[in-house]
Amino acid sequence: MKKIVVTGGSGLVGRHLRQILPEAEYLSSSDYDLRSEADVKRLCERGWDHIVHLAARVGGIIENIGYPAEFIEDNLLMNTLLLKYARLNEVSRLTAVLSTCIYPDTYPTYPLREEDLHNGAPQSTNFPYAIAKRSLAVQIDAYAKQYGLKYNYLIPCNLYGEFDKVDEQRSHYLTALLGKIIKAEREGRKEIRLLGTGTPMRQFMYGGDLARVIGHCIDADLTESFNVAVDENRTIREIAEIALGACGKDDFELHFDNISPDGQYRKDVSNARMRSLIPDFKFTSLNEGIRKVYDYYKEHSTI
Ligand code: NAP
Repeated sequence: MKKIVVTGGSGLVGRHLRQILPEAEYLSSSDYDLRSEADVKRLCERGWDHIVHLAARVGGIIENIGYPAEFIEDNLLMNTLLLKYARLNEVSRLTAVLSTCIYPDTYPTYPLREEDLHNGAPQSTNFPYAIAKRSLAVQIDAYAKQYGLKYNYLIPCNLYGEFDKVDEQRSHYLTALLGKIIKAEREGRKEIRLLGTGTPMRQFMYGGDLARVIGHCIDADLTESFNVAVDENRTIREIAEIALGACGKDDFELHFDNISPDGQYRKDVSNARMRSLIPDFKFTSLNEGIRKVYDYYKEHSTI
């Protein structure tokens, strides 16, 4: 059996991956702080066949704007140290997870393809985070070229799922929205206040779907790097309306504050390369995924 370790194993994606790859070892920052060279060295010296690198300093738009220095420094440190010690300890496979927010802020043609990645600056609200993550793509490609290592990366679109942080400052858009729906329901209100204008477009994927793609990469020994994204690209308002419908709250009203930053207007990516590698992959529909996650937070959160 392959000896697999997953960094960021306590996060949203990591906890979904546990259901797909139960035999792997799942780490959090309290096991190894990946910003510490001594910790990363100690981790890699244990000998692994495959490292799945999910760990990152991750946050929503408000956190990204508030802590830009920490976002670039923590991520550059973690990624650089992990690659360095994985190579020195002859780890043969490493798969890292990036994010579609690393793509150029605006582009002449959509959906964005993997080869468009470096053709323009990322969006200003998460520029430091995006540059750190984009650098990881460059680092992995450089390791493959110079050392012939089969290290690769996946670039997933926006995610939602069970196991996210449910607070407005730190959670991702859909989790924050579900939190607001549940809170309004508990307080007997029928209106939801959302930040921004509702016009930006997003691809939203269930976290369990990304976990299945990672599992497939390991089983099939895929070494290509590729986008992982659903076909649909919808406005934030449309996604909120679908969420209200999925939660049986069609009678709720949505209000956008029209003041808060919207972030990148669109960043939809092509899944053509992924489809060529995993042709039969079926994504969870937004309706089905949101319902599952809503039921989960209703039972587990104390909002
Ligand atoms: P998450 O829920 O925020 O979890 C982050 C993980 O990283 C946690 O396990 C955390 O450990 C770990 N971590 C943070 N700092 C660390 C450090 N210094 N040393 C060791 N571990 C550290 O993130 P996620 O949503 O699962 O995201 C996983 C990956 O997918 C990330 O690389 C992210 O960029 C990417 N991604 C996420 C989304 C999304 O919408 N969620 C979309 C696209 C891409 P602790 O629990 O101990 O803090």
